[in-house]
Amino acid sequence: MMPIAEIIAEALHAKRTGPGRWMARCPAHDDRTPSLSITERNGSVLVHCFAGCRQSEVIEALRARGLWPERKTEWLPREQYRQERKRRDSYREAERWKNALLLVLEHARRDAWHEFLDCDAAGKKDERAEALTRLFELASEHRRIRNLNGAELLMAYAESLERDPKGVAAVLNYALDDDQNARDVTAAIVAMLALAQQAQSERRVA
Ligand SMILES: [Zn+2]
Repeated sequence: MMPIAEIIAEALHAKRTGPGRWMARCPAHDDRTPSLSITERNGSVLVHCFAGCRQSEVIEALRARGLWPERKTEWLPREQYRQERKRRDSYREAERWKNALLLVLEHARRDAWHEFLDCDAAGKKDERAEALTRLFELASEHRRIRNLNGAELLMAYAESLERDPKGVAAVLNYALDDDQNARDVTAAIVAMLALAQQAQSERRVA
């Protein structure tokens, strides 16, 4: 079977510039001079328009001409493949941090519970109500995070970051007073926020 790069090159009347390399008129814009480079490497096809079309636009134009296979996984362009793999790694890492976050929330919940008992014993009504509210919030956050997988957790944090960047840090910073877990917790917060920010910026690009 003819390699896909050759099929594309032939259909676009491309000029061969080297082994596995062609230049063609870009199908994604009104191209007068050949701006599209087509490269075949290790069985995958790379397309790049020097006039500035996005790769997704070029692929869409090729697909419209029946020159790009429908099944994504079969002919995933290298850059797309790299992005996919990076995203999967992020999700896996997020799964690892999930337990650390749950631990933070458990500590915070325990502290809020003690605070509630103290205020209750001392008859401090307002503080008691605040501690109770906090207790409920922490319990619901714990439940929410426990039920998310890594990908969902990242998205949830990316959304929270967008809405209230300081709030996310504040919730997670809560257990930093706890000497025993301070270092783990700090690492978890930093990693989580970095991953969430990354997921957020990727989403913005997409
Ligand atoms: Zn173009």
